[in-house]
Amino acid sequence: MTDARFNDISFRRFLDEDRLMGCRCRACGAHYVPPKPLCSCCHCNDLEWIEVEGRGTLAAFTCIRVVPPTMQTWGYGRERPYCSGVVELSGGGRVVALIDEVDPTHPETIGVGMPLIVKYLHQGEGESRKTLLAFKPA
Ligand SMILES: [Zn+2]
Repeated sequence: MTDARFNDISFRRFLDEDRLMGCRCRACGAHYVPPKPLCSCCHCNDLEWIEVEGRGTLAAFTCIRVVPPTMQTWGYGRERPYCSGVVELSGGGRVVALIDEVDPTHPETIGVGMPLIVKYLHQGEGESRKTLLAFKPA
């Protein structure tokens, strides 16, 4: 098993299959989503893939109106802002994802600590298939 497996390409390939994968440090037990080749906790490189349960709570969020080009391709923009959040995963670790099925035009209705469940947004088919990792209120 080489470190090269723990990269963004592998992570996205799993997302295309509706699987949320991360890695766990065999030395200290820290979790990372997306996976990384080196544990930032204990600096060891003995990591393994784990399938992450797609549940957690909202730790922080921001609502974005001036969207990056990648999000424009998903239909977001000035007229359709989106909410980006940090999700504290129930099994450990944190991941940044789109928070769907909330109202980004009324951020006061979105609450830190709200329970969330994973949701995969797909676009395109075959080689051009893209998946956006999202969470929605549980
Ligand atoms: Zn570690």
